[in-house]
Amino acid sequence: MNAARCHRNAGLSNLKRLGRERDAMSEHVLEGDPPVRLVLRRSARARRYSLRVSRLDGRVTLTMPKSASPARALEFAREKAAWIRTRLADRPSEVLADFGASLPVDGRQMRIEAGSRNLLDMEGGRIVVSQRSKSAPAAVLALLRALARDRLVAASDHFAEGLGRDYSRITLRDTCSRWGSCSSAGALMYSWRLILAPPEVLRYVAAHEVAHLAEMNHGPRFWAQVERLYPGYQAHRVWLRSHGETLHRYRFAERAD
Ligand SMILES: [Zn+2]
Repeated sequence: MNAARCHRNAGLSNLKRLGRERDAMSEHVLEGDPPVRLVLRRSARARRYSLRVSRLDGRVTLTMPKSASPARALEFAREKAAWIRTRLADRPSEVLADFGASLPVDGRQMRIEAGSRNLLDMEGGRIVVSQRSKSAPAAVLALLRALARDRLVAASDHFAEGLGRDYSRITLRDTCSRWGSCSSAGALMYSWRLILAPPEVLRYVAAHEVAHLAEMNHGPRFWAQVERLYPGYQAHRVWLRSHGETLHRYRFAERAD
């Protein structure tokens, strides 16, 4: 299952390191209002200039053929400056999961408040974090991951029983490119961020991955299996396609850069 591509894990240190590798990557600034940071990337496979604005972290990357001139590439970027700024302005803003912020859990908006101990107060619409916590975002993350694990294990167990097949294990990750996966050995992987989505969406992803225990493909028989496990899954699949990206706007640590 593909989601928007992202570069959240490629921090600045990584970028600087790459920059030293014979100009494979270099950083530039497009002047104007506001100035735009731009990464120039040389690629042996590129045949033309191509610009990409990450919806997730706002990183602007210009890929150019290995033999092309950087000056020409920057000129190309300047010609496209209005387009780049529009794309950047369109991006959903980031939210640090700190005191006073709100974020969806199970699809419901919850507010992060200070209290005596860490807990998810679903009925009260609150995520309570102890004032003694070193990092509120880290405490929120731990609560969300634990709930995500509970829900994903329960949903996977439910669908695996319906299918009559067992999975071998469940791993949670913070993946950019997919919401879940199923290996040929029956290991399920999910993005813990699914706990931020409406519960039906989380259940759809579990049904989808469990269905792969029987059908390791996306053919008609696979989709018939998903429908049998979770009738009416289509709307949840559409939700993930159109809104899934917004689950990536929440951050649980200060940015390195
Ligand atoms: Zn799949």
